Amino acid sequence: MEHIVEDKLNIWLRAPSLMGRFKLLALDLDETVWAHPDISATRPPYKRVSRDVIIDVHGETIELRRGVRETLEELKSRGVKLAVISWNDRSKALEALEALGLLELFDVLVIEPHPHKDLMMSRIVEWCRERGIRVSEVLYVDDSPLMMEVVKKAWPEVVGVVYGLELKGFEELREIVLDP
Ligand SMILES: [Mg+2]
Repeated sequence: MEHIVEDKLNIWLRAPSLMGRFKLLALDLDETVWAHPDISATRPPYKRVSRDVIIDVHGETIELRRGVRETLEELKSRGVKLAVISWNDRSKALEALEALGLLELFDVLVIEPHPHKDLMMSRIVEWCRERGIRVSEVLYVDDSPLMMEVVKKAWPEVVGVVYGLELKGFEELREIVLDP
């Protein structure tokens, strides 16, 4: 049963109408971009221990999800704008992105210390409008079904995908965003 639901979601995401339609990708950070539940709970400065792994002062590991770097680099090179939408301590999240060598890839960084992602999405939508990008051309990826609900309620035209549920990984994301 679970398998059938999963297949159906994949079919929806792979619909020709969605392929290549997105001009901005808005990404959550914790448990989406990296496999860590709360970057705000870590303590900088971070030290890069390998290409995709940093540790905080206590040796706590923050590891990028597989394919994140390659996917973001490719999308950026193809003209897709990249945004962060994250409930976190801004300075820690920025420092972690910098330590991982990802910071300069992003065009918009909305990182705020509250859970109101509908408000955060407003800022991204505003940024898009100033550049002629429509709300329906925004793809939002978050591992939290609750955050997805909050954002979708305020912005029904935004296409939302729950990481880990509707989307297995970043390679799959690249296929959805780019023309086949
Ligand atoms: Mg998250």
